[in-house]
Amino acid sequence: MNIRIFDTTLRDGEQTLGVSLSPDQKLGIAKKLDEVGVDAIEAGFPVISEGEFKGVKMIVDEGLDCEIAGLARTTKHDIDAAVDSGLTYIHTFIATSDIHLEYKLKMSREQAQEKAVEAVEYGKSRGLQVEFSAEDATRTDREFLKQIFSEVAKAGADRVDIPDTVGYSTPEYMAEITRDTIAATKLPVSVHCHNDFGLAVANALSGIHAGASCAHVTVNGIGERAGNASLEELSMALQCLPYESKYETNIKSKLIYDTSRYVSKIVGIKVQPNKAIVGDNAFGHEAGIHTHGVLNNPLTYEPISPELVGRTRQLRVGKHAGIHGMNAILEEFGVMTTKEQSQQILEKIKLLGDQGKQITDVELLSIASDVMGDSGIKKIVQLTGFSVSTGIGTMPYAFVKLNIDGKEFIGTDHGVGPVDAALNAIQKITGKISELKITDYRLASITGGSTSLCEVTTSVEDAQGNKVSSKSVGKDIVTTSVRAVIDGINQIMLKKMLDEKPTTKS
Ligand code: MN
Repeated sequence: MNIRIFDTTLRDGEQTLGVSLSPDQKLGIAKKLDEVGVDAIEAGFPVISEGEFKGVKMIVDEGLDCEIAGLARTTKHDIDAAVDSGLTYIHTFIATSDIHLEYKLKMSREQAQEKAVEAVEYGKSRGLQVEFSAEDATRTDREFLKQIFSEVAKAGADRVDIPDTVGYSTPEYMAEITRDTIAATKLPVSVHCHNDFGLAVANALSGIHAGASCAHVTVNGIGERAGNASLEELSMALQCLPYESKYETNIKSKLIYDTSRYVSKIVGIKVQPNKAIVGDNAFGHEAGIHTHGVLNNPLTYEPISPELVGRTRQLRVGKHAGIHGMNAILEEFGVMTTKEQSQQILEKIKLLGDQGKQITDVELLSIASDVMGDSGIKKIVQLTGFSVSTGIGTMPYAFVKLNIDGKEFIGTDHGVGPVDAALNAIQKITGKISELKITDYRLASITGGSTSLCEVTTSVEDAQGNKVSSKSVGKDIVTTSVRAVIDGINQIMLKKMLDEKPTTKS
């Protein structure tokens, strides 16, 4: 059975505390949502502001494949604004629970029902597709809920939606009122679940299992308070969990991760690391037993393959690590160790882990190169020639020669100082090859005096946003800086190679 996905990232999601989007940002997200395959987008609430109106209009005018809806209260003014923005589909709502009626609307149940019916009739008279929501449905008197849904159905509503506005429903109750609503309306029913008790997805699934044909969701589960049912969790649960009735959606699951990252960046809300499907750690393994299992057969400790949602598996080392996992990571970087070397590297990692340190791939490689000597690590980029000139009355100038995977490249550039000139020259070469950027550079002197050691820390980032940091220690500021940067570039290129060859990662 195909379940319709109605995405409200641009309406409920935008109601997240502290989130406000420009019309252009809204359009960008709408395009992403269309690409990932949602069936409908709630583009916004046209009446609330000029910018919102403009954003909705831009999305309507874009001619996307999915349906575009807009929110409207049960007033002509709101519905007219929706029509003026070009919408042909409205999501109109009125609260139906006694607490909302008494303290917010100051209306009787009868008055609310009358307004709902009028709005549906008016929407239909303006040629719109009308979806009606009984706000706070799950705290609404059950008989009244049936009645108001039945009346809006008679008035011509095309769809009805059950909002669990404050996330107060249990999965069992959601199933019951979904069945009530289907019986009362004979219309397609949607469920709109909030996550105040962490049950948004469970409640939506329960509604669907009871016969709802559509769920309202947001990317990364953003939304008011604790958020909404998340698109990625709900769609993957429908696709992957062992339901007897086979559910499908039109979501292109391989684009899920990309969509999540895009939305996170635009709205400025980081995804929690342990978030299902899209969190940083969702497909990461550290513990030795788990890593060993996953290396033999990923399904031992992963319910689905990360590739299914456009991701790759991450193995990490730390104090829980075992030798198999660690060697697997090293092998991915082209590093082959002897048994004794592996043992020594692992001991060092566990020591750092016991000190509470997290060990990144880059640190693992640097520990490995300490143990093995430089010969162990394959270097894609090698510095084969380098000179700088600087002085008073002359602009600092650098010449750099790099061997990248067997090919020689020469770069020259000026800078405000010799280090700047050298880094500019390196970026001139690497920028052409793989759009690498030096995003951070820090210099510290370790001891005093002009022969003191200096320590350079740099961050290098590629076009995909992969970031590594590297460190180098030496006596000469300029060559130490160049070494640190080349080291960073090597790590990032190794990472890239790793991402491109799916062998051990599949
Ligand atoms: Mn909501």
